[in-house]
Amino acid sequence: MSMKTKELIKKSNKYIAQTYGRFPIALVRGKGTKVWDADGKEYLDFVSGIAVCNLGHCPDAIVTAVKNQVETLLHVSNLYHIEPQIELAEELVKNSFADKAFFCNSGAEANEAAIKLVRKYFHDQGKEKYEIITMKQSFHGRTMATLSATGQAKIQKGFEPLSSGFKCVPFDDTAAVTEAISSKTCAVMVEPIQGEGGVNIPDDNYLKSLKDICNKNDLLLILDEVQTAMGRTGRLFAYQHYEIEPDIMTLAKGLAGGIAIGAMLATNKIISAFKPGNHASTFGGNPVAAAAGLAAFKEFSHKNLLSHVEEMGTYLLSKLNDMKKRFPFIKDIRGKGLMVAMEMDSPSSEIVNYCMDKGFLINCIQEKILRFVPPLIVQKNEIDSLINILEQCFDEKLGQHI
Ligand SMILES: *Cc1c(COP(=O)(O)O)cnc(C)c1O
Repeated sequence: MSMKTKELIKKSNKYIAQTYGRFPIALVRGKGTKVWDADGKEYLDFVSGIAVCNLGHCPDAIVTAVKNQVETLLHVSNLYHIEPQIELAEELVKNSFADKAFFCNSGAEANEAAIKLVRKYFHDQGKEKYEIITMKQSFHGRTMATLSATGQAKIQKGFEPLSSGFKCVPFDDTAAVTEAISSKTCAVMVEPIQGEGGVNIPDDNYLKSLKDICNKNDLLLILDEVQTAMGRTGRLFAYQHYEIEPDIMTLAKGLAGGIAIGAMLATNKIISAFKPGNHASTFGGNPVAAAAGLAAFKEFSHKNLLSHVEEMGTYLLSKLNDMKKRFPFIKDIRGKGLMVAMEMDSPSSEIVNYCMDKGFLINCIQEKILRFVPPLIVQKNEIDSLINILEQCFDEKLGQHI
């Protein structure tokens, strides 16, 4: 480790709130599927800023759009109409179920907006319906309402009292949802595929059944697509795999290809419950973030990216499944598109460290699950090189066991 990196880590520990267990490297540059640390070491990135840099690091289209926007207009208030924001909303609406978008700055904020909107929607009808059913192992963010909606005790512990009005049921269990419905229930909130909770993929009929349950019981369906959207699963939005349309959808991570943004999309009928003054965000849909989002969106239509995601995802899954036959400590391989996980039988942070040492970034969730979310532009030979390193690591691991 160079003096430069040592110095950075020392200062980081001194001046940065210790909310992350950080790896002992500082990343200073990125291009495409690669990033470099302060010592000049190169890494192939299978983390992508956690499913943010879907188009790769510093894609030309986004860099150009941001540069142009930065020189034109950095920020104005949402008291005025903002051209790139309007254009991004138009693209999102034309390519989804939604009629309108509300912009904010993060996934948690997008989900907060959704929670507020469903309450307001029923309030305006004079109905006392405010309870939202959410799922175990879900992840919706770190603000008070979104952590209360999140179905993981480790995220809530120490922050009690939680916000009320959330009921948590097992994921991929429609009977549990039906059972949890009361006269106060207003919505079901769910990730199409759970990200942080372990890349958990429900039955193919799950979302359709949830939508039916919502229709029958006067509930709204909120899809948290913060991680699954923007091509990650091989469709622009993951719900497009399942022949349903939600009432509300939240976006963030990959939406602006590396610039902070969040969005909540909904139909006119629902989003019209928000009147001027009901909800706001100073930076929401800021000109620079929106210009980046618009450039990212255009890249999806220009490039044949979605079929590439399906092809690479299938390839990665098949390679990992081959490994599973050889190594007894691999419990499960699962994924959709380029949202892929390998579940191990024991805590696996040392595997992440091994890969990092060899120049590959992966991450570990729920202690035992290795998650692979590379930029969507990843190529076969890059997947092969990751597989080689994992095999090398597992051969050594197997050697230790015998
Ligand atoms: C990351 C994530 C969030 C939170 O997004 P932030 O931008 O960190 O607030 C919410 N929901 C899901 C599904 C996520 O993956």
